[in-house]
Amino acid sequence: MEESSVPSKQEGYLTSTCSSSECSHMLLHCPTKNETRCIIFDTLFGTNSAPILLIDPEDDGAVVDANKKALEFYGYSREAFRKLHVWDINALGRSVLTVMREISSWGGGHYPQRFRHLMADGTTRDVRVYAGPVEMVDRKLLLCIVQDITEVIEAEHFSQLLLESVKVGVCGIDREGAFSFVNPEAVRAFGFPHESEVIKLGIQRFLGRTELEADDDARRILQAAAEGTAIHGFECQMRRGDGTPFPVRLVMSPIRVGDQVQGAVLTFTDLTKEREREDEVADLINSIPGIVFQAVMSPDGDLKPTYFNAAAKGFLGVPEDADLISEAALSPFLVRSGWVGLLRSLKTAGRSLQPWEQEFQINSKDGRKWLLGRAKTRPMPNGNVAFTGVLLDITDRKTLEAQLEEAALTDSLTGLKNRRHFERVLQCSAARHSASGRSYSLMIVDIDHFKQLNDRYGHDAGDDMLCHVSRILRRRARETDCVARWGGEEFAVLLPGASLDFASDLARDVRRLVEEAKSPADRLTISIGVGEVSAQEDPSTFFRRVDAALYRAKANGRNRVELA
Ligand code: GH3
Ligand code: MG
Ligand code: MG
Repeated sequence: MEESSVPSKQEGYLTSTCSSSECSHMLLHCPTKNETRCIIFDTLFGTNSAPILLIDPEDDGAVVDANKKALEFYGYSREAFRKLHVWDINALGRSVLTVMREISSWGGGHYPQRFRHLMADGTTRDVRVYAGPVEMVDRKLLLCIVQDITEVIEAEHFSQLLLESVKVGVCGIDREGAFSFVNPEAVRAFGFPHESEVIKLGIQRFLGRTELEADDDARRILQAAAEGTAIHGFECQMRRGDGTPFPVRLVMSPIRVGDQVQGAVLTFTDLTKEREREDEVADLINSIPGIVFQAVMSPDGDLKPTYFNAAAKGFLGVPEDADLISEAALSPFLVRSGWVGLLRSLKTAGRSLQPWEQEFQINSKDGRKWLLGRAKTRPMPNGNVAFTGVLLDITDRKTLEAQLEEAALTDSLTGLKNRRHFERVLQCSAARHSASGRSYSLMIVDIDHFKQLNDRYGHDAGDDMLCHVSRILRRRARETDCVARWGGEEFAVLLPGASLDFASDLARDVRRLVEEAKSPADRLTISIGVGEVSAQEDPSTFFRRVDAALYRAKANGRNRVELA
């Protein structure tokens, strides 16, 4: 190089003068030795890590030259390249020439343009071309620095696709709340037809319950955007364009460049449909004629309710806003005596993961109620067992059952217990006697000459006499005694814990009362056998022994008491 070639920058034109054709830096074809004016591309062209092309827009877009990197990138030899035109490598084809000429007419500077370029192997790459005019001898060429942005474009497309397809609203906001982007779902949620109408508004327009005043939630979101704080799963209200509030779950991630907070990406899920579904499910659950519940049992058997439907509150008679799942909230309703059994049945079901079913009593606002509990059990990952089920009010059924049971054990004429019931009580007393030695006594009462009375006064009067004797027995017996009509005109009275002395005193009293009382017959008397159970005596032997005493009372003249 005979003359020093100092690149100078004049309004964006890189020009230099060189008198030597041997100049190793010259990558341009110099038409004549003496008029060599060339651009020194030592760093810019020859060794630049970006592909660079030199195009002549006036010569049908001919590729004047390409640097080493461009040869590698496009896959052409230098010779092959120099036979090409820009429209051979640009997907726009010949129409790219218009763009080239337009750029070449500009005063200076390199302006990035996005193109799709064709490679020698037929593949395409997305490129950003920084094209700018360079003045050569008498030609005005275009220097094109090519940047491969295929991956960036792919990423952008991907993000774009993602933003368009996600069913969550996504918007970018700056520190003041101005939008940088809004995805289609956010545009839809805000109730606008097009992004352009949303983007010119700030996020403030969509926060807060009213247009006039930002509420605490809105303030929190704006403050987080300004300070660069993240927000996770925050449930609040946003507002549509027409001012209608809608529930959202919101996530906000700050955008930082270096230490600087630039704004935030705000993602929100419109919960309107979810809430509607929840309401529908709640309506459904609340329409079930029973209490729907969920509870969790820990491995050591601690039971904690986690959910009750609205019916539970009405049933128990607690206010709508009462917190039934709080600690001890349910204790006033539990019937202590049944609680142990209830808990035991729950534990058994929980341990075996079998369905739970149990009848138990609770104290409701309307008094003692019977419930039938049924639940499914499900193991939870943390080792607990979840119960989901219903509690049904079976009080009416239980009352009816109790009435039927009572009826089945009661004598319909006298209202006394019947023989079946008496036999059960006798068995219980016998069992208690053999287990704990608690004594008991027995009276067997028989109306004297009842057949005759019946014949004389009639069967109805006979019935009245039976009721008359029943009343005396019941009145005279203790609360704890079991007074039963054994059959026909015979009665049996079981006296738990009573000695023979006590029982025989009672028997004598009753005999006297019947004799003395004004009765439907002129003369009504009874005979009684009475005895106290002896050690090891089984109930039927004992009964026969007392019955034998009654027989003796009859044999000895009636209207008397005989001890067994
Ligand atoms: P005794 O003094 O030996 O006991 O003589 P009795 O007549 O009382 O004994 P018996 O067993 O011979 O007669 C019992 C009678 O009781 C026979 C039956 O007609 C009468 N009887 C049994 N059940 C009823 C009833 O429900 N109503 C009425 N009116 N009479 C009954
Ligand atoms: Mg009789
Ligand atoms: Mg009899």
